[in-house]
Amino acid sequence: MSERNYAVKMRASAGGAHISGAEKIVPAAAVPRTVAQLAERALTHAKGVPDFVNVKIEDPGEILRLESLPVTTHVTATAAEGWAKATELLKGAGIVRIGEIMARFGETSSMRGAMLLDADTLERLEPDPARGVRATYMDDAESLLKGSASGKNHYAEAIVLATKVQHAPGIVGEICVSDDPDYVTGYVATRDLGYCRITTIKEKGSPDGGRIFLYRGPREQVAETLRFLEEQPVVVEHVPVLGAVAAERRWDGLAAELEGFRAAGLNRVCTTLDAPTGPTAVVDGKPLVVLSSNDYLDLARDPRVTRAAADAARQWGAGSGGSRLTTGTQPPHAALEAHLARFKGTESALVWATGYMANVGTVSALVRKGDAILSDELNHASIIDGCRLSGADVVVYRHADLDDLEHKLAGCREHRRRLVVSDAVFSMDGDLLDLPRFLEICRRHDAFSMIDEAHATGALGATGRGLCEHFGCGHPDVLLGTLSKALGVEGGFVCGSRLLVDYLRNRSRAFIFSTAPGAANAAAADAALAVLEAEPERVARLRANTAFFVAELAKHGIRTRTDSAIVPILVGDEKKALAVAEKVRAAGFLIPAIRYPTVAKGQARLRAAVMSAHTEAQLSAAAESVARALRG
Ligand SMILES: *Cc1c(COP(=O)(O)O)cnc(C)c1O
Repeated sequence: MSERNYAVKMRASAGGAHISGAEKIVPAAAVPRTVAQLAERALTHAKGVPDFVNVKIEDPGEILRLESLPVTTHVTATAAEGWAKATELLKGAGIVRIGEIMARFGETSSMRGAMLLDADTLERLEPDPARGVRATYMDDAESLLKGSASGKNHYAEAIVLATKVQHAPGIVGEICVSDDPDYVTGYVATRDLGYCRITTIKEKGSPDGGRIFLYRGPREQVAETLRFLEEQPVVVEHVPVLGAVAAERRWDGLAAELEGFRAAGLNRVCTTLDAPTGPTAVVDGKPLVVLSSNDYLDLARDPRVTRAAADAARQWGAGSGGSRLTTGTQPPHAALEAHLARFKGTESALVWATGYMANVGTVSALVRKGDAILSDELNHASIIDGCRLSGADVVVYRHADLDDLEHKLAGCREHRRRLVVSDAVFSMDGDLLDLPRFLEICRRHDAFSMIDEAHATGALGATGRGLCEHFGCGHPDVLLGTLSKALGVEGGFVCGSRLLVDYLRNRSRAFIFSTAPGAANAAAADAALAVLEAEPERVARLRANTAFFVAELAKHGIRTRTDSAIVPILVGDEKKALAVAEKVRAAGFLIPAIRYPTVAKGQARLRAAVMSAHTEAQLSAAAESVARALRG
């Protein structure tokens, strides 16, 4: 950390009137680029062409790092509603003379800086009331990190400013209303409330606006407050990136919803794993043991599998060039389907680009209006979506309760077709369907039976053939699986009779109207299947590892059970689950928190997935770190 950082400030004016201003705090190497960006911003501003642009570069001194205020959006339809919202928010923060404070915006619009008011006496505290207070020397930490201004983002700049201001000594709140007559959104901020965006806070067309900082404290401290606001260099970390678009009204609803997710601990992000799929990875430069991959048998990076993919791509092309029914079928597709049928012991098989599509495409093809689907309440989302798309009556039965299924099936005699569908392994709990009884009930009620073996293929049965092998029983009518989990590739398939496969080929819209997966995928899955057949000991190792991990958790008093490689560790509260997952990750293990809507509200959990390639040392250390994180 030896490189010097610089504050780069720009301001532009025409005929003495302010047009635009901006500032950045960036490492030395990024200064030339930043100067260019700010100059461009000055010269292309919508407010007009400047006749004077000043760009200043200086070492700001020791930088204070602050965590961004949290952001919430309050959608209001009218200025009156916005005022009422601001009043309510600030009253909660002990600021009561809001009507009088708001009336001062008539004075601020002519000022360059902000007004500093005593929050209680409403006395002005700036030494030069015509100038006001100018909060400067601040930036988003991203600029320091990436060495570039992330473009023109008034929204992020406002959060940076509000964060700095609320950390100044004695400051208890801020109200900001734009002086742009067309821009009606404003905000109020306090340390506790955070940055509260109010989508309509003034009448359109009004030029009144500005910033008012509210102060509460001894007069002797005001000088220090002013020094902090005007001179203390600050960078703000983790500024929410809702982006510049948040300035346009039609995005308000989306922004508010997203912020709601964030506040409830339900926000979702993608973690980039900087390594080939496997039991370990690198995230943000830090090595982690991955206990959440569905690549149970460590086949995704197996050289036989990756070579098959590479060879096929070279021989057949990267993409398939069309739907399977037009130009998208190549020899590797046909070979894979024949192999899948052999592996599962059915007449025929059909492949889709993903397991999700296989479910949606199969359920919606088999039944329609006038038919009934009976579906376990914990079935995978792709089954649920297929049910919705089909137009059939959907009857949900209690999880794994086959008495309830039978009872409800008896009520569907009048429907033309009945389809009963269930996960084989339930993907968030790791428990199994009682397949023999399921098949018997379906047969007795003349219903189609369908199971989804996404987490069963490669993981259950002595040789990984799935739930039928596990129970030593017959097949359901529709046996759906994925190539994307234990087989380590991607895609979904259905195994069944030739009649079924012919029908789906003609009726499944997800099959017909989507480009076929590339030959590389098909060849890789074919090769993975061959490795699984040649090395069934991988399945045994997976099972032994899972039992070991569950036993290690039990040693720490964590009770969990599973019949598969999925080990759910129930936490309950969404935010707590997230906090536990973060602690576990800090200790070097990636076990994500699964939250609503993937599982029911209040059922948040850590969902561990074991691989055959994990070592006992890894599993034992992971169990210990989970135990420690759960304790607090
Ligand atoms: C993962 C999963 C799917 C979807 O398969 P993809 O190949 O990932 O699209 C379908 N059903 C269940 C039960 C799953 O767990």
